[in-house]
Amino acid sequence: MSFDTLGLAPAILRALAEQGYDAPTPVQHAAIPLVLEGRDLLAGAQTGTGKTAAFTLPLLQRLFVDAAPAGGKRRPRALILTPTRELAAQIHENVRAYAKHLRVFATTIFGGVGMQPQIDALRRGVDILIATPGRLIDHLERRTVDVSGIEILVLDEADRMLDMGFLPQMKRVLNALPRQNRQTLLFSATFAEPIKALAREFMRDPAEVQIAARNSVVATVTHRVHPVDAARKRDLLLELLSQDSRRQTLVFGRTKHGADKLVKFLDQHGLRTAAIHGNKSQNARTRALADFKNGKITVLVATDIAARGIDIDQLPLVINFDLPMVAEDYVHRIGRTGRAGAEGLAVSLVSHDEARLLRDIRRLLKQDIAIENVAGFEPSSPLRLDGNGGGGQPKSNGAPRKPNHARRPHAQTPSGQHPKPHAAANKQRNWRGGGRDARKA
Ligand code: AMP
Repeated sequence: MSFDTLGLAPAILRALAEQGYDAPTPVQHAAIPLVLEGRDLLAGAQTGTGKTAAFTLPLLQRLFVDAAPAGGKRRPRALILTPTRELAAQIHENVRAYAKHLRVFATTIFGGVGMQPQIDALRRGVDILIATPGRLIDHLERRTVDVSGIEILVLDEADRMLDMGFLPQMKRVLNALPRQNRQTLLFSATFAEPIKALAREFMRDPAEVQIAARNSVVATVTHRVHPVDAARKRDLLLELLSQDSRRQTLVFGRTKHGADKLVKFLDQHGLRTAAIHGNKSQNARTRALADFKNGKITVLVATDIAARGIDIDQLPLVINFDLPMVAEDYVHRIGRTGRAGAEGLAVSLVSHDEARLLRDIRRLLKQDIAIENVAGFEPSSPLRLDGNGGGGQPKSNGAPRKPNHARRPHAQTPSGQHPKPHAAANKQRNWRGGGRDARKA
């Protein structure tokens, strides 16, 4: 199967060939013909599936090949709404590459950088806007952006926009756009009720495409857990990173402050490290990502939201310094390794108080996880892996729990009936995640 049969113009096919794309990915194969027909589309696809091209390519074809812009001042004809600045920048990069042989101007609108350059770009005239919701609203309020000519709207990573609390802003934007003849494409990894409600309210008889099963993880990723006392995590991380200091490693921490402290610690021990999180300026984030991509730094410490959707090719190792509070985020985190057939390793440092989080992840993954003590870092007490002993979730964190977690029965294991301790150094045990039949694909 090649791109030739999908109905894309030679100028687009040439750009794809220059990108080295031989064949469409499954989401592209399924979505492109539907979008070219003019259908609204609900697509279930995660980052890494090629979803950006799945909406960008037919969008370019429809707006800039089949119906070239009229003369006069350009005004935006397509709006791509996306949760984070990094994703916006990445989409912009892709749009530029795919539209290389077309006369199309795209610009990004996101917070954390000055308004004026964005206002200037809008005034000069653009065809495609790639925006995060908050800053787009700022521009709408100041009337520095004209969205009355939007013909195609893309909601990218809609579930994450909702998770980040952007629903009111999304609705405001949707209400500001023309309704008639607007095509709406919604991409999301998951389809909880609020997303379906949004689709019902704002979309016209959408076609549906579901790619990888929800929460599936790349088969080429090996998962490994190192039990360790919380106080010794930093040293264990240093030990692991020092084993191969040239290996590009993405480290996940739960908090911004924790990420900063880790960077300082690793820096002091001679590892070239940077952090990427919501408190960093846009310039600092862009620089850190670029330095990581070109190998200037080998360790990037990220929080979940900042890392969402970041595309880093062929990342061999992801380390979870902290487990995520929500099991689904584990899937998003390790989605960055083992892509495109490459082998990947996802290592989690798990302390006693994270046992319940680990159990949630195990259930979600339905995949073996090797538990392996590292010699010299064995925890003072074993992880308790069944029932609700073992400390469970740290009490201080008020992170929302998903409803399906709440329904999970907590076996009341009498104290003393813990799983066999596995304190012997390097003893390995495999888990098989329990079935989660209640989950919908
Ligand atoms: P995305 O899911 O949009 O973040 O894309 C993930 C990665 O796949 C990006 O690096 C794209 O450049 C790449 N990609 C997208 N489509 C294809 C394709 N058809 N063949 C090869 N690589 C692709």
